Amino acid sequence: MKHLIIPLLLAGTLFSANGQEKQTTKNQAAVPPCLQPQNTGQTASLSREEARSLILLREEEKLARDVYRFFHSRHSWRPFANIAGSEQAHMDAILYLLERYDLEDPAAHTSEGEFINRQWKTLYMELTARGKDDPLEALRAAALIEETDIADLQEALDGFAENPDVIRVYANLLRASKNHLRTFVRLLEWRNETYSPVILSAEEFHRIMEG
Ligand code: ZN
Ligand code: ZN
Repeated sequence: MKHLIIPLLLAGTLFSANGQEKQTTKNQAAVPPCLQPQNTGQTASLSREEARSLILLREEEKLARDVYRFFHSRHSWRPFANIAGSEQAHMDAILYLLERYDLEDPAAHTSEGEFINRQWKTLYMELTARGKDDPLEALRAAALIEETDIADLQEALDGFAENPDVIRVYANLLRASKNHLRTFVRLLEWRNETYSPVILSAEEFHRIMEG
């Protein structure tokens, strides 16, 4: 397995003698403690796959935030605003890891609705078009985003994720995404609408809904 070993010199600058983390960049994102990687004081390594996944996830969380902000601007539904705020925290958590492992931030210079990865740009266009005039379609589009997020996080956790920072942050993001999915699906159900999973298996979907 190919690992990008973070040079000892760099790791040494991350921690002071008492193990307290130093501010290594001027602009560290403010990340809630539950989303911060644990400060183990050990030299961490990040595989190429983990690095690629962090870059992808950073924009995936941005997709969620931007789509929910857009839906809130169209339908003025509070859950969209609340969950957009949560997606911002997820973006910050991923940014924290990008900075910690010296990776370039794909969202550094893009405004709302703009993405470096064309996959997310296409999805943004499709989903906002779908939900712009119909709040129920907006809820379905939002549930689909959460399904995508859950599938990608689960795949990483079941597969290649080995770095403890990545595992900790992804596990927290996964828990939150399941909560978001439940929220969107219940909002549909309260309006006598059903939602069938598009990406997750029926079994996995029911497990999440019961959780
Ligand atoms: Zn999220
Ligand atoms: Zn979410």
